[in-house]
Amino acid sequence: MTDCIFCKIINNEIPSVTVYEDDVVKAFLDISQVTPGHTLVVPKKHVPDIFAYDPELAAAVFSRIPKIAKAIKASDPKIQGMNIMNNNGEVAYQSVFHSHIHLLPRYGTDDDFS
Ligand code: 5GP
Ligand code: ZN
Repeated sequence: MTDCIFCKIINNEIPSVTVYEDDVVKAFLDISQVTPGHTLVVPKKHVPDIFAYDPELAAAVFSRIPKIAKAIKASDPKIQGMNIMNNNGEVAYQSVFHSHIHLLPRYGTDDDFS
């Protein structure tokens, strides 16, 4: 999709800090990290939201989440847990309409959001 910011990141037309990449997903740091290491896992195929996934894409994307979550956790011994979140639709606070899954490392400190 030509006018999609996440398609541009996937195509390296806009810079990002890559956390993980393969043929199905690209994971990169959120530009406005809620907690340090806040990562977005984005299917390379442009799908606007969860309602547009077929079962094969869902299996491919979601099967990668544990591996990426483990790698983020292993990167910093201070990470104690992680929220995994996916917003769908404006009413659910989705702001970028290329589906993505938020991985939010949690440190158990006062700096964490609640
Ligand atoms: P949503 O609100 O759609 O669930 O989440 C969109 C996320 O994309 C937000 O957390 C926002 O900070 C992030 N974001 C928006 N534009 C960019 C960008 O150009 N680069 C990166 N890395 N993240 C972005
Ligand atoms: Zn897109």
